[in-house]
Amino acid sequence: MLLPPPHYDPNDNEAGMKLLEDLTTNAYQIQLQVLKEILTRNAKTEYLKGYFNLNIGHFDVDALQVFKKNVPVVNYEDIKPYIERIANGEPSDIISAQPITEFLTSSGTSGGQPKMMPSTDEDLERKTFFYNMLIPVMNKYVDDLDKGKAMYLLFVKPEIRTPSGLMARPVLTSYYKSNSFRNRPFNRYNVYTSPDETILCPDSKQSMYCQLLCGLVQRDEVLRVGAVFASAFLRAIKFLEDYWKELCSNIRIGHVSDWITDPSCRNAVSLILGRANQDLANLIENECGGESWEGIIKKIWPRTKYIEVIVTGSMAQYIPILEFYSGGLPLVSTMYASSECYFGINFKPLCKPSDVSYTLLPNMAYFEFLPVEKSNGELTQEFQCNGISDQDCQHDETEIVDLTNVKLGHCYELVVTTFTGLYRYRVGDILMVTGFHNNAPQFWFVHRKNVILSIDTDKTNEEDLLKAVTEAKLLIEPLGFLLTEYTAYADTCSIPGHYVVFWELKSKGSNNLSELDTDIMEQCCSRVEESLDSVYRRCRKKDNSIGPLEIRVVKDGTFDALMDFSVSQGSSVNQYKTPRCIKSEEAINLLDSKVVGRYVLRETTFGIGFIAKWACSHQVRQRFLGYPDLRVGLIDILHLDASKTLHIR
Ligand code: AMP
Repeated sequence: MLLPPPHYDPNDNEAGMKLLEDLTTNAYQIQLQVLKEILTRNAKTEYLKGYFNLNIGHFDVDALQVFKKNVPVVNYEDIKPYIERIANGEPSDIISAQPITEFLTSSGTSGGQPKMMPSTDEDLERKTFFYNMLIPVMNKYVDDLDKGKAMYLLFVKPEIRTPSGLMARPVLTSYYKSNSFRNRPFNRYNVYTSPDETILCPDSKQSMYCQLLCGLVQRDEVLRVGAVFASAFLRAIKFLEDYWKELCSNIRIGHVSDWITDPSCRNAVSLILGRANQDLANLIENECGGESWEGIIKKIWPRTKYIEVIVTGSMAQYIPILEFYSGGLPLVSTMYASSECYFGINFKPLCKPSDVSYTLLPNMAYFEFLPVEKSNGELTQEFQCNGISDQDCQHDETEIVDLTNVKLGHCYELVVTTFTGLYRYRVGDILMVTGFHNNAPQFWFVHRKNVILSIDTDKTNEEDLLKAVTEAKLLIEPLGFLLTEYTAYADTCSIPGHYVVFWELKSKGSNNLSELDTDIMEQCCSRVEESLDSVYRRCRKKDNSIGPLEIRVVKDGTFDALMDFSVSQGSSVNQYKTPRCIKSEEAINLLDSKVVGRYVLRETTFGIGFIAKWACSHQVRQRFLGYPDLRVGLIDILHLDASKTLHIR
C-alpha cells in the first residue's frame, strides 16, 4: 500500500500528515510488506542463497521465521568481503538484485578506513520521500514558513572512486549532488538563501564564505537557520567571527572578495549581492562588533523562528553554546538517518532537545531490535554524550524483536535489512523506546555503541584511543617515563572542539615530571592524532572541524583519586575499571586540579593561535558566564610560553 514510497505533493500539508498517520498506523503490515519485497527481490543473490531458499511466490509469517532463524545478525566486518568484491568489480548481485550504483562512506570506520554502504538509484527516491515528510511536520508547528527563507549551511565533501569505478562519498554529498536535491520542494522559488552552486563548491572555505554572504544579504527574509549537525553550525558562527569585517566590506562595495575564484559560486553570489549596500554593512558591523555575541543569531537574522540542527547524541554537548548564540531560539532536531538507511522523524520538532524522540518510518527498511541491558544499573541520559563501552551491555540475539514489539522504556540496538543489500545489519546505535505514535514506536537516541569521543562526524572508540596512546607512549619511554593511566574527554569549550587526553606518568628513575621534554610531548600529541582513524584525520586536517589534540599530564596518584571519586558516586570497588572517557564535570575538574603540564602541537594556520586568541578574548569570558559547567577556569590563566607550546595552568 505504501510501497514504493508514494508520490506526495509537499505543498499539501494535510496529505502529508495523513500519509504519516497511515504509515504509523499500519506499521506492522508495512514492515512485513517491506521484508517481503526485499527478500523476494533479492532471493537469488549469493548472500541470501547462502542462508535459505525462499519460495518467492509464498511469503508468509513462516517465511519470516525462517529468515530470522537462518540469516545471521551481522557487523560490518562480516559483510566487508562482499562490499570489497563489488568495489573491486564483481557484479552487484552478490548482495543486491538492483545494481549498486555507488557507495556511501560512513563516519564509522573499519580498520581505520570509512565503512562503505551500498546504495542504488532507487534509494534516492526513498530519501527524497523522507525529506518531503519533514515538511508537513514543521508546518504543523510553525506558521508562515512560506513567507520567508531558510539559511541552511550545507557542504559537500571529497569523493573517491573504487577500483571498479564506483563513486564512494558521504551520503549527504551524494544527495546534494543529485537531481532530487536540485529539484527539492520550493528550491525554484529561491526559498533557500544558499544558491546550489555555493553548496556544491568543492572548496569548503569558499563555500562557507559565500553561503554566509548570501545569508547576510538576505537577512531580512530569513525565517530559519541551520546546518545538519550542531558542530557544523557552530563552525559557521566561528567563521563569521573571523570574517565578518570582510563580509561587511563586500556588502558595502557590492563586490565579492577576489579570493572567491570558483566561477559558478562567484557568479551565483554576485547576483545575490547586487549593488553596494552601506546601510546593511553598517548594521551588520554594528552587531558583530558589539561587546558580546550572546544572541547574535537573533540580532543578525531577527525574524528567525528556530535553528534546525541535530542536537541529539554526541551533538548534545553543543547545546549550551548554541543557546548562548541563539538568544533563546528553539533548537530543532528533525531527523535521524545514516549512510545505511534513513530512519526516523521527530514528530514534535519544537520540544526540548533532551525530549527529542524519533519515530522510525516503517517503509524505509525492515527494522529489528536487539535488547540491550545495562549490567550495572539503568541506562540514563548521562551516557548520551560520550557513550558507554559495549562491554557494559549484554545482548541476547534470540530475543531480537520487531519494530512493533519493542517495549516502552527498554533499550535496543538497531538492526536493519535495507533495500540496498544489507541484511540484519547492526547499525551500532542504542535507542530507548519513549512512546508510540499510533503503532509505530518512538525512540530516544541513547548513544552510539562504543564511541567514547566525538567532536564532529568522528567516532573514536576505546580501542582506537588505546592504539593511538600506545603508539604515542613509545616516545616517552626512552626518556625514563612510563604511562600508567590515561583517560580522555571531548572539550567543546572552544570552536572547534578538541580531544583532551589525561596522562599519569611514572618515572623509572629519579626524573621529575617537570623535566618532561616539551618537543617530545608535542610529538606525542601528533602521534596520537596520526594514529587515530581517517575520519578523525580528515576532520582535523581537511575540514578543520576538530582542534589540535591536547595531552594533560597529571600528578602521581591522580587516577587513584579518580577511583575514590567514582566509588563515592556509587561504583563498586571490585568492578572498578578506569573509564577511558570522562563525562562527569566533577571528574574532569578533579583531573584538571591535578594537572602539572599541558601540551598541544603548535600550529600556525589554525588551532593554537586560535584557541589562545579565543580563550583570552573578553567576549569568551562573557560568553560563558552563564555556563559555569563549561569550565572556563581552564582558559582563565592562559599563556603561550617561549617555545610556543600552549600551557594552561
Ligand atoms: P553516518 O553513517 O556517517 O551517516 O552516521 C550515521 C550515524 O550518525 C547514526 O548511525 C547515528 O549514530 C548518528 N546520527 C545520525 N542522526 C542522528 C541524530 N538525529 N541523533 C543522534 N545521532 C545521529
